[in-house]
Amino acid sequence: MYDLIVVGGGVLGAFHAYHALEAGLKVALIEKDKAPQEATTRNFGQVVPSGMDSKWQAYGRESLKIYKEIQSRFDISIRNNGSVYIASNEEEMQLLEELRVINQANDYSSEMMSKEACLAKYPGLKADYAKGGLFFPEEVTVEPRVMIHRLLEYLVAEKNLAYFPYKTVIACENTGNVVKITTSGGDLLEAGKTIICNGRDFKTLYPEIFAQSDLVVTKLQMLLTKPQPQSYILPGSILTGLSIRRYEAFYECPSFADIKSREPKESPEKKWGVHILFKQATDGSVILGDSHEYADAKNIDDLGYDLDMDIDQFMILKAKQIINLPTYEIAHRWFGIYSQCKTKDLFQHQVDDRIHIVTGIGGKGMTGSAGFSKENIQQLFNLKND
Ligand SMILES: Cc1cc2nc3c(=O)[nH]c(=O)nc-3n(C[C@H](O)[C@H](O)[C@H](O)COP(=O)(O)OP(=O)(O)OC[C@H]3O[C@@H](n4cnc5c(N)ncnc54)[C@H](O)[C@@H]3O)c2cc1C
Repeated sequence: MYDLIVVGGGVLGAFHAYHALEAGLKVALIEKDKAPQEATTRNFGQVVPSGMDSKWQAYGRESLKIYKEIQSRFDISIRNNGSVYIASNEEEMQLLEELRVINQANDYSSEMMSKEACLAKYPGLKADYAKGGLFFPEEVTVEPRVMIHRLLEYLVAEKNLAYFPYKTVIACENTGNVVKITTSGGDLLEAGKTIICNGRDFKTLYPEIFAQSDLVVTKLQMLLTKPQPQSYILPGSILTGLSIRRYEAFYECPSFADIKSREPKESPEKKWGVHILFKQATDGSVILGDSHEYADAKNIDDLGYDLDMDIDQFMILKAKQIINLPTYEIAHRWFGIYSQCKTKDLFQHQVDDRIHIVTGIGGKGMTGSAGFSKENIQQLFNLKND
């Protein structure tokens, strides 16, 4: 009998388990795949509170502390190299300056960088693209193909997590005293509460709840270059002009609405939801992306299983206009899917007093999950805020 069973071993589920364990609870986590392999392993690994609205910036800043604290005890692949937003014109420079003022008021460090400083720090950055940048020194990156596996390893080895991979939860039943969890293999586990962090899987548990929700699913195409030469170092997270025009943090800038209203209504970047981000992995390869295509949660299959090469070619073309990487030879292409709500920043649903669903964290899961789930565990278990 557990205090908590978490369903889903992505970043949101794993951090709910982490905080419950830190609070001294007896916790199990059940993951349907041999090892998590959904959005949590398919992303850039940029932990960028700077890009979030003020509510999620607070969760993101708490996440930074949590990531750094765990990293000091166990290597979960955290690197503190900061994030930079590179502006390509005067409008984007204006937004960067406005964001710096907002962050100064929020006591969150950021530094304007001149064009020359950007060119010196980010090798290959094109002089005809970069006008200047805004740098966030506290921000970190994770290796998306590594972090979650190490985190779960740490929770099992050091925190007594009972981890059950390769088991799909097919039913949760509140008997009045406990929740009974059934897996497709016929296992039966019991807990005081369960938190379901199912990511974008809306077919297995409670499909009727998801079908009636305003959850949408988003398919993002990603690319990974072959390793760059050893001497080529691109530090931290690099976000560029189209991200400045897209990320929620900038909505709070006084000039944002006016600048957006001047954008062309139709363009390939609008059609495919493309913005260009770069992050170098530890083996020297560079993750490039991404694009956004949408469907309602119940129509997830309409997103299809193909990678659209027109989108990939467009992303590479745009990336080459920004950074002249030593090689643009692509080693891997894939897509990831995350869920998000049309009207809310997260999907939270209480099936009853013992069964809770949390998903739909959208594009902010690597940044916000650690901080958000700390607060959520405190609320669900009536724990005191430290
Ligand atoms: C291409 C891409 C790039 C991104 N880049 C970034 C970024 O740089 N920074 C950032 O902050 N965020 C980024 N994100 C968003 C981030 O990856 C997601 O918000 C986050 O991974 C969602 O985590 P999750 O745990 O909710 O979902 P998931 O990672 O989908 O995990 C859900 C888990 O639940 C399991 N599961 C589902 N149903 C069951 C069941 N019935 N029984 C057992 N297990 C079950 C699944 O197998 C899965 O492992 C990106 C996302 C994508 C797709």
